[in-house]
Amino acid sequence: MPALSQRAETLGTENAFVVLAEVTALARAGRDVISFCIGQPDFPTPAHIQDAAVAAIRGGRHGYTPSAGIDELRAAAAESMGRLRGLDIAPEEVVVGAGAKPFIGYAIASVTDHGAGDEVIFPVPGFPIYESQCLANGAVPVALPLRESRGFAFDPDELAARITPRTRLLILNSPHNPTGGLLRRADLEAIAAVLYRHPQVWVYADEIYSRLVYDGEFVSIAALPDMRERTIISDGASKTYAMTGWRIGFTANRQLAPVFTRWITNTESCASQVSQWAALQALTGPQDEADAMRERFRARRDLIVRLLNRVPGFACAEPGGAFYAWPNVTEACALIGARDSEELRRRLLHEAGVAVLADIHFGPRVEGEGQHIRFSYAAGEEQIERGVARIADFIRANTRPPRK
Ligand code: PMP
Repeated sequence: MPALSQRAETLGTENAFVVLAEVTALARAGRDVISFCIGQPDFPTPAHIQDAAVAAIRGGRHGYTPSAGIDELRAAAAESMGRLRGLDIAPEEVVVGAGAKPFIGYAIASVTDHGAGDEVIFPVPGFPIYESQCLANGAVPVALPLRESRGFAFDPDELAARITPRTRLLILNSPHNPTGGLLRRADLEAIAAVLYRHPQVWVYADEIYSRLVYDGEFVSIAALPDMRERTIISDGASKTYAMTGWRIGFTANRQLAPVFTRWITNTESCASQVSQWAALQALTGPQDEADAMRERFRARRDLIVRLLNRVPGFACAEPGGAFYAWPNVTEACALIGARDSEELRRRLLHEAGVAVLADIHFGPRVEGEGQHIRFSYAAGEEQIERGVARIADFIRANTRPPRK
C-alpha cells in the first residue's frame, strides 16, 4: 500500500464530531441519550432566509461566483460587521467563504511559513481546529491558558511571556468556545498594550459568536486604536441565523482579502451561490427571528447554569456569550471516584445516558484549573431539565462514602 504523508497521519480533528458519531451509534442501538454535544442552534433557519435560497435556485442563480463572494453579500457583510464593531469596513476588505472555519487554516497558512519555526499563540481550552491547522501548516502552536478566575480570559502577562521574535499570529475567540467567556474591553486593552510592543504579530479575531452576548457589550479588538489593520475579523451566518449547514462565513482584513480570495480559488472556488443569496437575506432582512433565538439562548443559559449549580460537585460560572456552559467538575469526579473529566464524560454517556464533551477535547488540560466538561445549551428547555436531572441522580447514586 502506498504511504500516507506525515501530515495526513497527524492531522487533528474536532472531537465533537467523534463523540457525535458515538452518540448516534448508541441511539441507533436503541439507547436513550440526551445530547449536549453539538455546537449548533437547534432552531430551523428562518423561513424568509429559506425562501431567498429557493428563489435563487429558481432564478438560475446557481453557478460559480467570484471567489471572494457575490458583491451584494460582501457589501452587506461589510456593513453588518462594521456596524456591530463601530468600524467602517469596505466591501473589498471582506471575503466570503464556506463557513468561518476554512479561514482559520487560510490565515495560518498566509502568515506563517511551513517548517520555519513560525509561532501561533492560541487559547486553551479552545476550538481544536486552531492547533490542528497550525500543525498541518507546519507552524508551531503555542498554547495560552485561560483562567477561570478571570472569567476565562487569559492573563496578559502570560501572553507577553509567550511572544517571541518568531510569533506571527495570535488567535483570539470571543465569545469563547468552549467556556462561553468574553474578552471585555479592559481585557482587550491589556492585550493590545502587549501587542503594541510586537508589531510583527497578526491577530485572528474569531468572532463567530459576536451576536450571542448576554451581559454587557460585545467589543472587538479590531475597534481598539491601531489594531484594525493587523486584525483579521472572522464572523459568519452559522450561529446567528441557525445556518450551520449552509456554510457561509466571512472575514475582513484589507491586506489579506486578496490572499484569502486566492486560497478560495485554489480550494472550493467559491461558497455555494445559493447559500450566499440566503445569507444576504439573513443580513439585510428582518432580524426579529435572530433576536428571538438569542433571547431563547439567554433563557436557556439562565436555566442550565441554575440547574448545574445544584448538581453535587458541579460549580458553573455564568457564561457571558455563545451557547456553552463549562462547569468545573473537579469535585464531582472525586465524589464518584472518576480519575478525570474524560472518565466522568464516558460514565455520563454510558451509565446516565447524557452526552457532553470533556476539557481534553479542547486541548491539553490547563494545570491548576481543575476538571471541566462542556454543555452546548443549544438544546430544548425540556432536554436541559431532563438531562441535568439525570446527571444529578447519577452523581448521587454513585457517590462514594468519604474515606475515614
Ligand atoms: N470558530 C469557532 C470558535 C466555532 O465554535 C465554530 C463552529 N463550531 C467555528 C469557528 C466555525 O463556524 P462555521 O460553521 O462558520 O464554519
